[in-house]
Amino acid sequence: MLDSLTQRLTKVVKTIRGQARLTESNMQDMLREIRIALLEADVAIPVVKDLIARIKEKALGTEVQTSLTPGQALVGIVHDELTKVIGGEDPENVREINLATQPPAIILLAGLQGAGKTTTAGKLGKWLKEEKKKKVLTVSADVYRPAAIDQLQTVSQQANIDFFPSTPNEKPLDIARKALEYAKLHYYDVLIVDTAGRLAIDEQMMNEVSDLEKFLNPIETFFVVDAMVGQDAVNTAKAFGEKLPLTGVILTKVDGDSRGGAALSVRMVTGKPIKFMGVGEKLNGFQRFDPQAMAGRILG
Ligand code: GDP
Repeated sequence: MLDSLTQRLTKVVKTIRGQARLTESNMQDMLREIRIALLEADVAIPVVKDLIARIKEKALGTEVQTSLTPGQALVGIVHDELTKVIGGEDPENVREINLATQPPAIILLAGLQGAGKTTTAGKLGKWLKEEKKKKVLTVSADVYRPAAIDQLQTVSQQANIDFFPSTPNEKPLDIARKALEYAKLHYYDVLIVDTAGRLAIDEQMMNEVSDLEKFLNPIETFFVVDAMVGQDAVNTAKAFGEKLPLTGVILTKVDGDSRGGAALSVRMVTGKPIKFMGVGEKLNGFQRFDPQAMAGRILG
């Protein structure tokens, strides 16, 4: 079991007991412990550097109240900074899903294979139907894995939302066009478009999803990313963020045992709010993202 940050700091804090302020020199050991704790939580190295600089700036000169140990004071600062970076400074409505457009509101899901896009399509559809009382249609533009289309059909049925059939011998753009026409004709409020994902980022896949985005002009383009991937999240997020005008992030598999450093990395790299999180394989394992809880989890 990894030590929590509080435990780590308690160990080094003895050295500065009795000092009234946090200073460059008395913080050294604690900052090192914070750095290790963040790395253990799978926060990417450049993101850790950035955070440490922010924390240092905030903490320098902080008077240590008599009621707190310097370690506790610093943990408080780290927690606040993490919460801010993960989304605590965003106004609440930034994490709200945007459906303010002429219906159907199109939601595009992009991400690597296995990230949880198809499952998320079902979860989000169910959530929109139950929480927002929307009429939802799903469609799969994944023509590379025939099983992907069947899988979306299955989750849509489980979610009790409608599914627009497609086949692997159609072109993604044609599928998108047909689904959109159908959605307009039948007065759907929301069209969720699931896209193909590869094991790694490749040019063709990125161009394809970019073409879909340009054609559909979605109100929401979500980057779906697995919280368990840790450090790798940075490169993937960067690649998707450069290619697509992302509007938000959906973090999946938050029920896993990772410390959740990916959340921090993805938020910093894309600059986009994390709006939802997947917390289980079942379709009801889906929640609004909670920055406070995620900061607490990263700190352990
Ligand atoms: P896709 O390739 O991006 O469409 O990914 P899938 O939707 O097929 O998901 C890949 C695997 O991750 C499946 O086994 C899902 O059941 C699982 N999965 C998706 N979201 C979650 C989640 O939030 N928690 C857990 N534990 N598993 C998930």
